[in-house]
Amino acid sequence: MKLRCVNCKREYSTEEIVYTCKACGSVLEVVLDIDSIELSREDLRKRPFNLWRYREFMPIKGDSIVTLNEGGTPLYNAKRLAEEIGVKELYIKNEGANPTGSFKDRGMTVGVTKALELNAKAVGCASTGNTSASLAAYAAKAGIKCYVLLPAGKIALGKLAQAILHGAKVIGIKGNFDVALKLIREASERFNIYLLNSVNPFRLEGQKSEAFEIVDQLNFEVPDRVVVPMGNCGNISAIWKGFKEFKEAGLIDELPMMTGIQASGASPVVKAFKKGKKEIEPEENPETIATAIRIGKPVNAPKALKALYESNGYAESVSDEEIIEAQKLLARREGIGVEPASATSIAGLKKLVEQGVVDKDERIVCVVTGHALKDPEIVFKAYEKPVEIEPDIKELSKYL
Ligand SMILES: *Cc1c(COP(=O)(O)O)cnc(C)c1O
Ligand SMILES: [Zn+2]
Repeated sequence: MKLRCVNCKREYSTEEIVYTCKACGSVLEVVLDIDSIELSREDLRKRPFNLWRYREFMPIKGDSIVTLNEGGTPLYNAKRLAEEIGVKELYIKNEGANPTGSFKDRGMTVGVTKALELNAKAVGCASTGNTSASLAAYAAKAGIKCYVLLPAGKIALGKLAQAILHGAKVIGIKGNFDVALKLIREASERFNIYLLNSVNPFRLEGQKSEAFEIVDQLNFEVPDRVVVPMGNCGNISAIWKGFKEFKEAGLIDELPMMTGIQASGASPVVKAFKKGKKEIEPEENPETIATAIRIGKPVNAPKALKALYESNGYAESVSDEEIIEAQKLLARREGIGVEPASATSIAGLKKLVEQGVVDKDERIVCVVTGHALKDPEIVFKAYEKPVEIEPDIKELSKYL
């Protein structure tokens, strides 16, 4: 097991605290010895259905794992939504069903376990909300200090409440996520805080379990396409890595087309993809109601673009109106409540079907990333208000 720069291929030990390449500054990835993993589908199926079912693929040596029983989230066959969008087979991987309500928990079980292996006394992150909610909970479980930097006034209420609830030191920054990330990266070095943003390659190792579970839940048949919201772009990169590793281990034979969706007000990766470029042009003032993906300089853009190109995938952006429309469709056709950022996968799929980019016969999985209760305010802002009446049957009858 080692760390390797995705750009210049320089290698680093996994015992060393290093987040980006010292030679070229690019992001690192964990390289596992997949050949040494001997595991059949049947072996896997005997174990409980959660992230640690796939523990041979996790870069953790010991047995003291910091876990809240993350993963094992539902994969719904969304028949009513499929009909509405006009595709034959559509599944929803509901990551809102994780312990703190987002996929970030998959990264944090591995990331915080690694922090303990490295003898870290404190962990920290910059966050658009869910990373801090998740890190706060796992740091509490592990019994270590937690510092979170948040763009002041731009965090959905539910997420902020979680970070406070679990006892993190919450610090608001007068600036956006990209600014907060730059600051915590500097602070992590100066004050010996183990950084758990998705620039940390161990976090992505946990998140790749989304791919393992999708395959497992589809009886080891690989979907044609997986649609994922993109913010800092760790998740889509992690999911692609998961599929590739399962193939390398002989557990599957094919790979899906990875399809990433951003909000139009924060879409540097989509723009780069459409120009066929390998590098993004950062956006200084990203803006969208989908606060979880309000990011102008995604650190994992190189990995995400690689995933999109390698998998013969696609990238698209959607407007805030399209996001709310998709959130409503999912909530009212399937009973699945998600926060705005999560609905981008649905909005993007709808758009790509209309454009003819996605074939109606494909078998598609949309990943929805976070729970609706994370951001209740958006519902009061963007949806119809409840009426208030006198307690009188005649009054009531007007509405029934
Ligand atoms: C973190 C997050 C994203 C973005 O994931 P990245 O790995 O940063 O691309 C999307 N949706 C929700 C709900 C999130 O919490
Ligand atoms: Zn490098």
